[in-house]
Amino acid sequence: MTLLTQPSTVFSWDASLSSLHGIGEKIAPRFAKLNLHYIHDLLFHWPYRYEDRTHITPIQDIVPEKWVLLQGTIRKTQVIKSAKKRCIVTLQDQSAHIKLIFFHFKTPQLEAWREGTMLRCFGQVKWAGGQFTIVHPEYEILTPQRIPPLPEHLTPIYPIVAGLSQNWLRKTILTAVTHYQRQAYQRESLDDVLSKKFPELSFATALETIHRPNANQNLESLYDKSHPAYQRLIFEELLAHRYALKRIRQSVKVAHIEATKVDHDQIHQFIRNLPFELTEAQQKAWRDIEGDLSLQKPMLRLIQGDVGCGKTVVAALAAMAVVGSGKQVAIMVPTEILAKQHFEHFSDWLKPFNLRCELLVSKFKTKQKRQILENITLGLANVVIGTHAIFQEKVEFQNLGMAIIDEQHRFGVHQRLSLQKKGESARQKSAVHQLIMTATPIPRTLMMGQYAHLDVTVMDGLPPNRQPIKTLTVAQSRRHEVIERISAVCQQKKQVYWVCTLIEESEALQCQAAQIVSEQLQEQLQFPVGLVHGKMPSQQKEQVMQAFYRNEISVLVATTVIEVGVNVPNATSMIIENPERLGLAQLHQLRGRVGRGRDESFCILLYQPPLSPMSRARLQVMRESNDGFVIAEKDLELRGGGEILGDRQTGMAQYKVADLVRDKICLQQVGTWEKQHSKLVDTNTVDRLIDRWCQSLDLAKA
Ligand code: ADP
Ligand code: MG
Repeated sequence: MTLLTQPSTVFSWDASLSSLHGIGEKIAPRFAKLNLHYIHDLLFHWPYRYEDRTHITPIQDIVPEKWVLLQGTIRKTQVIKSAKKRCIVTLQDQSAHIKLIFFHFKTPQLEAWREGTMLRCFGQVKWAGGQFTIVHPEYEILTPQRIPPLPEHLTPIYPIVAGLSQNWLRKTILTAVTHYQRQAYQRESLDDVLSKKFPELSFATALETIHRPNANQNLESLYDKSHPAYQRLIFEELLAHRYALKRIRQSVKVAHIEATKVDHDQIHQFIRNLPFELTEAQQKAWRDIEGDLSLQKPMLRLIQGDVGCGKTVVAALAAMAVVGSGKQVAIMVPTEILAKQHFEHFSDWLKPFNLRCELLVSKFKTKQKRQILENITLGLANVVIGTHAIFQEKVEFQNLGMAIIDEQHRFGVHQRLSLQKKGESARQKSAVHQLIMTATPIPRTLMMGQYAHLDVTVMDGLPPNRQPIKTLTVAQSRRHEVIERISAVCQQKKQVYWVCTLIEESEALQCQAAQIVSEQLQEQLQFPVGLVHGKMPSQQKEQVMQAFYRNEISVLVATTVIEVGVNVPNATSMIIENPERLGLAQLHQLRGRVGRGRDESFCILLYQPPLSPMSRARLQVMRESNDGFVIAEKDLELRGGGEILGDRQTGMAQYKVADLVRDKICLQQVGTWEKQHSKLVDTNTVDRLIDRWCQSLDLAKA
């Protein structure tokens, strides 16, 4: 198959794959399944294994489990017609013989496997039934006129999908890599700049080493990506992301806006109205925000504080300050339940100042929505709280001054940017302050990689008089004891969350499970039991939540929809079923729904034995620590990379080769390197880098 007939064709790297000869509209979707959309994507599709077909192994030297390339003559072909019909081909070379077994074969194949035929085959040797065999080897028939040379390189094996053969994908990728090397810019200015750190290892060479390694390469280091070729690419990718983040920061920070005139009397009044004193951490966060607002630049701040530390009030202070200066504030939250709850708090807080708060969620009726949208456009709404509905095109602010994003890990970067643009595109044409709040503890390494463009305030410590949440692990067999215990809790007018987690990979089934649990609990308890899950109509969800706030429901059975932000201080107990199914970050978030008042709270992890060693270790971390940062670090340790910050990484950029956990040392080096050498890298190079590595990262284009 020839993909590109003329090697001199100039590749258009941004062209879609279907522009390649041989990849039509029908095949392109198969590539798309592998996330291969553009020609440049081919370069970054990594092999997960290599096969060594560079030399022929004499049959007498084979050992079980080894992958080998054999070459010999067929001595005998035998079809066995038992229940398991199969064809056994005996292959002989000068040293010994071996049986090749085929379960699927067609007549033409049988005809080709005649005695005396020369065969070259590749497969994994097994020792079965007292003899060496290879089941379904890949093979080709040789003739004395046609004995193809052996490959000089290891053969890469790529992830594939149905309808896309390994051979075809390999050839396509190799063509791309080869063309890349031939192109004019094969030696790039960055290669020169990096030549001290990575001698003789240009971007193109690194790619070639990975896709076409010599037989003597150290495979282990290719597999775990510690090989210099990978290291070179990882370094470059991390550097590209660093530049991208810097760019966003610059684009925001060069914007010149009026300093916000904070109405200090109003702020003091607001603080006096609160039923509590601000904690140290809250005061510090407010000071940071105040400092940002006093500059003639947009704020770009991340507030990071563990669940329950009181971030909402800090958001309210920031909102008050901006609203007080005559601008609007948008607050985005990930769930409707949380939007509604924030809306109530903010409405209460703003009322004494004659300020108006609007709630905007996607499920509102058209008429109701129109009214709200009008209030926003006319500037009658000072604070708008909502879910992703706020991003929609139709929402036009009169003069948006600040966007607050609560629980940011649930939002993608593009959503954040779209909100940012609301401010810029609206009538006012000016940048918007951004305040991002997260309870997800972000370990330091990730901080540098993902959030390098943000100013950060860490809120440590919880409001006073909080008692640590007691966490217990209890096996399902003792479920009745748990029910007795929560009955006692309800007796004291305290409330309980009962969380049913994902047992099956389906939300519908999860909701169904929650339904059943709620019915069972209602039978066993003399207190009102309620149910919320993601599939309920939002109005119904809201009614249940309202009833729970008012303590008309004692036990709230829920799916993980209540994971984020919900605040009912009178709820002191949390039961989590099948906690072994959840990540540590998510467990910590869920547990954070209790322990929000002065009363002692507890969390019961109701697990299904037997636990895997990993689950056991995780649950132990939960028992031993209430500190989100400690838990996050342990999480990284236990998982050792890959999936971080819970299961939803929507806010995280996707990397092509780097892994922030695995490559944390490299991440540090990139930071240092960039500081020392940034002068050597010109703007064009930075453009190229960002183009190459950060396409999926909308923020690069901010
Ligand atoms: P989170 O940081 O998880 O968003 P919240 O803002 O929901 O936390 O606050 C958790 C609980 O703590 C709320 O009930 C809130 O009223 C209460 N709270 C916040 N600040 C203080 C404070 N300074 N003193 C006492 N309670 C506080
Ligand atoms: Mg919160």
